[in-house]
Amino acid sequence: MYFGGIEAGGTKFVCAVSDEKFEIIERISIPTTVPDETLKHVFEFFDQYKLKAIGIGSFGPIDVNIDSPTYGYVTSTPKKGWNNYNFVGAIKEKYGIPVAWTTDVNAAAYGEYRLGGAQQAKSCIYLTFGTGIGGGAVLNGAVMEGFGHPEMGHISVRKHPEDSFEGICPYHGDCLEGIAAGPAIEKRLNKKGIEVAKDDPYWDKEAYYIAQALVNYTMILRPEVIILGGGVMKQEHLFQLIRSHFNVLLNNYLTIPDLDSYIVPPALVDNAGIKGSLLLAAEKAI
Ligand code: ADP
Ligand code: ZN
Repeated sequence: MYFGGIEAGGTKFVCAVSDEKFEIIERISIPTTVPDETLKHVFEFFDQYKLKAIGIGSFGPIDVNIDSPTYGYVTSTPKKGWNNYNFVGAIKEKYGIPVAWTTDVNAAAYGEYRLGGAQQAKSCIYLTFGTGIGGGAVLNGAVMEGFGHPEMGHISVRKHPEDSFEGICPYHGDCLEGIAAGPAIEKRLNKKGIEVAKDDPYWDKEAYYIAQALVNYTMILRPEVIILGGGVMKQEHLFQLIRSHFNVLLNNYLTIPDLDSYIVPPALVDNAGIKGSLLLAAEKAI
């Protein structure tokens, strides 16, 4: 029995086929262009298999409200061709099989919850710090969504006293995503995040912002594990800086797990999203 998974990112699509044990049999990565062209490659890949169901973890914002007439659509993205695009409809029309549909970060949270670093936990959240900032949550086995899906990146954080950067979110200016996502780092420092030296003083401010966000998520959701992924978190030294700011900001107000096991990188490394999509596909097939 085969399942299909799509991790649909704004830059690239990862598609994979797995067996019922979620071992990946084949995977491809294709650049995200306009929908017709991108899906042509997706279909060429999946056409080779007889799939039971397909799971999609998509970039957003997306409509996940099952009662909405535009359920399954990518909604207000600036990405050419994808605005108000009926993604689930296109897949269903082609294959006529069940399609699971959620955000890329919800899928990644689910992948970590079932097969990764949060397997012993009742809840976890997964955040990505990349081109944008987003978060997904799993609570007692279910991904958190309903009317819509969480938008954990567009929250307010207190500005660092030595940071005068005005932020680049087109909606909110200096929300977390506007000051701390990859493009904000690039704009502020005039070089790509990957080129910023490990000992650059900026990283401490980045950690301060991320830690504030994690304190907020902790207060609101009390997850058992917080997993941090995405391109910016490839700066592994950030983890210790974040934990240390988090500790100061929380100020012992709540009991939380040991910080080294509370704020962690994804155990599935780059496979959290695709594994989560495959798992959600399998659940939809039953
Ligand atoms: P996406 O968000 O498109 O899925 P990524 O998670 O790889 O992709 O995020 C891309 C962003 O992360 C870019 O802004 C890039 O500059 C930044 N980035 C990628 N690698 C690193 C790195 N090693 N250190 C810091 N920033 C990085
Ligand atoms: Zn914003």
